Amino acid sequence: MEKLRNVLKENGIQVTKQRLAVYKVLKELNTHVTAEMVLDVLKQRGISMTVATVYNILNLFEEKGLIRKVGAAGEPVIFDINTYEHIHICDQETRKVRDCQDMALVQMIEAYLREHPVGDLELERVDISLIGKDLTLHT
Ligand SMILES: [Zn+2]
Repeated sequence: MEKLRNVLKENGIQVTKQRLAVYKVLKELNTHVTAEMVLDVLKQRGISMTVATVYNILNLFEEKGLIRKVGAAGEPVIFDINTYEHIHICDQETRKVRDCQDMALVQMIEAYLREHPVGDLELERVDISLIGKDLTLHT
């Protein structure tokens, strides 16, 4: 718990009991989550929070770079504890998300954008979500 507390501090997040509880759940689940998924785990542990509070905490974590939003548009918003560069494969029907490590694709797009900068955008990072029918889910 002390280690988690320090991670929050290092990211400029004031530590509160609720924030610590949410971060602990994120670390344990270690996958793509919605606010509702986090809330369910908190409930199982007898920790009571509103979905709005969980959302606010997740958005704060995202703002501070501790987690990322998965690029696929739609509700509910999906958050990712893994902030290293990777691609998301999103199933259109179930909205399940899995990671893909095709760094060649990321590098190709980054190289292209260096050659052909997008006019009015100061590029921060490339976020790739591939959306379709994930055949590993539908057989
Ligand atoms: Zn991911």
